[in-house]
Amino acid sequence: MSNDVKVYSGRNLVFWILPILFIVFVFAFGCKGEVEKEETIRIAVARFSHETCTFCPKPTTIEDWEYSGPPTRDIIADRGYIGGFKTMCEEYGSIELVGILSPRGARGGSSGSWITREAFDKYSNGIVDDLRQAGPFDGVFLSLHGAMAVTGIPKPEAELARRVREAVGDIPIMVTLDLHANEDHELSGAADAVFIIKRYPHYDTFLQGEHAARVMIKTIRGDYKPTMATRKPGVITPSVYQGTGVSPAMEIMERARRWECQHPGVYVSVAFGFAYADVPDVGATVMVVTNNDQKFADRIADDMSDYIWRMRKVFAGKMLPKTKEGVAMAIAAAKAGKTPVVIADHSDRTGGSTHILEELINQGANNFCITTLRDEKAIQEIQEKAKKGDPVSIDVGGYSDKFAGNPVRIDGTVEFLGEYGRRGTVVVLLFGDNNRVILTPQLTQITTPDIFAPLGIELDSLDIIVLKSRVHFRRGFYETGLAGAIFEVDAPGWGPADLTTLPYKNIPKDIYPVYKKD
Ligand SMILES: [Zn+2]
Repeated sequence: MSNDVKVYSGRNLVFWILPILFIVFVFAFGCKGEVEKEETIRIAVARFSHETCTFCPKPTTIEDWEYSGPPTRDIIADRGYIGGFKTMCEEYGSIELVGILSPRGARGGSSGSWITREAFDKYSNGIVDDLRQAGPFDGVFLSLHGAMAVTGIPKPEAELARRVREAVGDIPIMVTLDLHANEDHELSGAADAVFIIKRYPHYDTFLQGEHAARVMIKTIRGDYKPTMATRKPGVITPSVYQGTGVSPAMEIMERARRWECQHPGVYVSVAFGFAYADVPDVGATVMVVTNNDQKFADRIADDMSDYIWRMRKVFAGKMLPKTKEGVAMAIAAAKAGKTPVVIADHSDRTGGSTHILEELINQGANNFCITTLRDEKAIQEIQEKAKKGDPVSIDVGGYSDKFAGNPVRIDGTVEFLGEYGRRGTVVVLLFGDNNRVILTPQLTQITTPDIFAPLGIELDSLDIIVLKSRVHFRRGFYETGLAGAIFEVDAPGWGPADLTTLPYKNIPKDIYPVYKKD
């Protein structure tokens, strides 16, 4: 009996152990598979952004790049490209973002001229060295602007992407760009996919960051094979015509969105370009990304490029009033009660131009505010000699570049003198019949009326507001319904609406409207 039991126990053992072994086996391998799937993806994040006005007088040096601090590894997750990229990665989960040593914004922003070779090499090699040290990575995200101009390097963003490619090898490199980018096939050849914002004012930086992250993650997982087509329609336009709330910029972007909506997983980008950089890849660029469909990418890119070419005359051939005429129109509109009237002093790329200030005084305007005028010397002089409430007699502006006009004598009082956030020391001079000029140490583009209250200026008391802006001011002065009338005035400056007046040396000899006229 006991023998029988023994035999029976042995059978029992085999009966139980085999399934247990099987379960352990399956569990172990199943878990291994699971772990592999959930393994953290490592993505490097670097940024290097500039929009270079090569006609402006002052080169952009290492000192300019580091005025607010040395390069940083901080991943600044704001409402911009990197914020969107990071947010999308967090939604996917199990992704480690590694900040790569990147330069901050350069002093003076877009009023800076040619970036020195030394500065470009320092920051691009810094990014590459950091990538080598902190790697290996599964992907690299480059948050760029696309309108850098560097002495001796014709296409800097493409050069950066090539250097990054050499360091990281065959892993996805995704790039985001501003719609003021000047790029061509060299960038799309070095990177895997490029995503460009579609709105000016620039509301969709976050969204394009999200797109870059989604395509990056799908590509790393093997679910997407970015395939690009790039076209140059051969058209350049001044920034002041590129606002996407008006034709034909609006229709061009709408056409791109239509392709995207009809074909999920397809990304259709258009950069209008930055005309004030004298570079070989200047002007409009179409970049299309599909999932492994070169033919389709080519078809869309051709369609978009042909459309931009067909729109060239409407796009590049508008006319704007010159200083005298534009100021007269603004004063008439103010008298007709369309206040506040906004004058966009769009052509001033260095910030210290006085043409419109001088003309407003000559034509006897009142209740106007120059928002802002760059004059670091006048600010220093006022700081040394005066305090709030003191009378002053001082020359302002007229020296930031050769088109900046004459210094204008202001006999008035110091209404405000103090620090104003990141803008540094700001001075408000009150003069004449409730007229003001806001002095800033750098070119300062004001996009919303938020500046006035902290400086003690009542918005309601202003009939005419002069802004050193082309399109971004529409954010706070037009889209909110605030401005009663807007006049884009073509004063002399390094950012003219008529591009044929610029002394280009490096742009293609067949580009419309500078060389090709029809
Ligand atoms: Zn831009």
